[in-house]
Amino acid sequence: MAKRILITGGAGFIGSHLCRRLLQEGNEVICLDNFFTGSKSNIIDLVNDSHFEVMEQDIIYPFFREVDEIYNLACPASPVHYQYNAISTIKTNVLGAINMLEMAERSHARILQASTSEVYGDPQVHPQVESYWGNVNPVGIRSCYDEGKRCAETLCMDYYRQKQVSIKIVRIFNTYGPNMSLNDGRVVSNFIVQALKGEDLTIYGDGTQTRSFQYIDDLVEGMIRMMATSEEFLGPVNIGNPGEFTMRELAEIVIRLTKSRSKIVYCPLPHDDPRQRKPNISLAKENLNGWEPKVPLEEGLLQTIDYFKSFLAKQKA
Ligand code: NAD
Ligand code: UDP
Repeated sequence: MAKRILITGGAGFIGSHLCRRLLQEGNEVICLDNFFTGSKSNIIDLVNDSHFEVMEQDIIYPFFREVDEIYNLACPASPVHYQYNAISTIKTNVLGAINMLEMAERSHARILQASTSEVYGDPQVHPQVESYWGNVNPVGIRSCYDEGKRCAETLCMDYYRQKQVSIKIVRIFNTYGPNMSLNDGRVVSNFIVQALKGEDLTIYGDGTQTRSFQYIDDLVEGMIRMMATSEEFLGPVNIGNPGEFTMRELAEIVIRLTKSRSKIVYCPLPHDDPRQRKPNISLAKENLNGWEPKVPLEEGLLQTIDYFKSFLAKQKA
């Protein structure tokens, strides 16, 4: 049955894909965004759909709409952007979560919180399982994001225990794909744009740190399946691709796939940059109807390279 679904952060990278997919499934979609990192160009093809509505709104302020489901994605996700105005980031995570949970309570909606692998901080358990509580610096430059997201998880659980709000928590691992912004600062978009422009690829530190990269379509599928699970399964559940790569390996793959003549340069490692990250996805496989990531890194990177190629070509024209 068609539902009315609110997606906060709907004009961002992940949100725009989710809007598109939920509309295709016949739902009414409300995209709420303050356009801090999101972009109208990500959703421009949807605006003439009579089942799609865009609202320019900041989730740190209370807001109400009668809806069936809420995907709470609003929050800048790249370190450069979330550190730009750290106070605003933590307000978005904490006040925003409270506002969305209050709204879920009033409208009896189910809410899915977009949490992150950053809740594990610089993990001492590898791969990361959901039962691991993490190793997070509460006073560092990443804390507005990591601790903000941890607090949002706490709020979800407290609204569930105290007010019986129907909640779901997903911990998203590094995700990439079309609609990432050009100046996002995250490693996949940086390397691809640098390679396409023939500029040096900037590896931070010695490039031996690892990440696990998930293609956007696999994430969207996992999130939609999570929203549809039975009332009792709350998460948190890891959604990611367990393939683990060093940043040096990633740089070499991007240079090869783009056939670029770019070189690699080494830059200072940002503070509190996690050494390693890889999800254990057993819980997701068990509970999300056999979900597992399907898109291998090179295939997803080729799609993303095509996207940035045409984006850069349009910019030039
Ligand atoms: P993004 O920056 O592209 O999208 C975030 C969106 O939220 C943007 O459209 C932005 O304008 C909007 N926004 C920010 N603050 C807002 C506010 N106060 N009110 C309303 N809108 C606001 O990032 P993304 O990669 O699409 O991430 C979406 C969500 O997924 C975030 O919550 C992020 O923490 C989470 N996540 C993403 C990744 C990833 O690898 N992409 C990993 C873990 C978690
Ligand atoms: N990184 C890098 N070069 C860049 C951007 C990032 O080497 O141009 C590194 C960064 O230091 C980190 C990894 O790539 O170790 C992933 O960074 P990203 O910002 O994409 O995600 P996060 O650190 O939040 O996982």
